[in-house]
Amino acid sequence: MARNLEPKCRQCRREREKLFLKGEKCFSSKCAFEHSSDRQDNTARDYPPGQHGQKSGARLSDYGVHLRAKQKIRRVYGVLEGQFRRTFKEAERRKGQTGENLLQLLEARLDSVAYRMGFGASRTEARQVVRHNGVLVNGKRVNIPSYTVRPGDVVALTEVARGHLRVKAALQAAESRGFPEWIAVDIKEGKGTFKAMPMRAELSPTLNEGLVIELYSK
Ligand code: SF4
Repeated sequence: MARNLEPKCRQCRREREKLFLKGEKCFSSKCAFEHSSDRQDNTARDYPPGQHGQKSGARLSDYGVHLRAKQKIRRVYGVLEGQFRRTFKEAERRKGQTGENLLQLLEARLDSVAYRMGFGASRTEARQVVRHNGVLVNGKRVNIPSYTVRPGDVVALTEVARGHLRVKAALQAAESRGFPEWIAVDIKEGKGTFKAMPMRAELSPTLNEGLVIELYSK
């Protein structure tokens, strides 16, 4: 299966923002965006990657701004271009606002729901749990990360997955940070309910889905 092999922290630096792609490291001083005594100069590396990263003060073109907005959403949800396009088409096809539909569809992906429920420390880790047959949807095994979870669906860890130390640690960390409104999680049972599609206001205000619509309609 094709996947994005670009290093995670590099992706954040490209977008000049923390995208929280690496689980617990993102909340520690090891994050490139934090000042860290582990680094010689104790400075944050919050500039774009590459040889000219620190010099790149140039303003983005209009196209560049639109492209960055799209790439950022793609990176947050860990979706490749082809799949993102297909999700966008589905968002357009559905009733309601295309932008909100797009973010809701991305949030309803099984890997994303598993991440929100704390079954993995990051979306990548949650996707691995799904792909390794660690998750049941309404009692049936589903190992397709892009599977669309519907409101009311119950997503549960298998008994084997529940015993994994990484999964246990991820669940505890997610519980201590709190779960989003649109899901309910039973930590002891290792399962949760996707109560409803999230409202736009419940999702990150730094995502600009409007620019994605403009980009694809150019
Ligand atoms: Fe991004 Fe996390 Fe790496 Fe920080 S640690 S740069 S938030 S992936």
